[in-house]
Parts: sequence; structure tokens; C-alpha cells
Amino acid sequence: MKKLNVDQTKCIGCGACVAIDPEHFEFNDDGKSSVISSENVENENALNAVESCPTGAISLEEASEEACECEDCEDSDDACECSNCCHECEHDAE
Ligand code: SF4
Repeated sequence: MKKLNVDQTKCIGCGACVAIDPEHFEFNDDGKSSVISSENVENENALNAVESCPTGAISLEEASEEACECEDCEDSDDACECSNCCHECEHDAE
């Protein structure tokens, strides 16, 4: 399974990905883009958003099969932003 990720250090908040693919991207409180869905990450809009990012901030990579252990995931059922996040957040996965 693949996952989308936005490198917050590269995102300049131009809004291209949010405009092209609002199913997967929205602005966060910092005015940068965050991934909001782990479904259908290889559809046309998602791939166009990856291609359209002027800074190359968006990656589409094979997701780790291991649940991550970051604090965001421990506190929430939502996908977190860390680079290891499986975007499934099944904390009790063995
Ligand atoms: S297209 Fe790239 S730089 Fe623009 S908001 Fe999206 S992730 Fe950020």
C-alpha cells in the first residue's frame, strides 16, 4: 500500500495540490498542505497533485507495514504526519 506525504519543510503553501485534489490535501493551521486521506492515493488527481507541486514536497511512497509509535498516533486514530506513518494507525498491530 502506498501513502502520500507532504514534507512540511518544503511546502510553500501555494495551494496547487489543495486545488487539484481536495480529496487528499487541505491546508493546515500553518498554511501548508496536509494529507487528509489514505484512500485512492494513486488516482489521477493525486498523481497530478504530486506532479504539480512546485517544490517537490509531495511524495508517494510504499507505506511501512509497521505501526508507527509517534505521539500523534498514540493520541489519535487519525493519520499523523510523520514519515513512518502507515496512515492506518493500528496501534495494536503485532
Ligand atoms: S503543491 Fe506543494 S508547495 Fe503547494 S501547497 Fe501543495 S505541497 Fe505545498
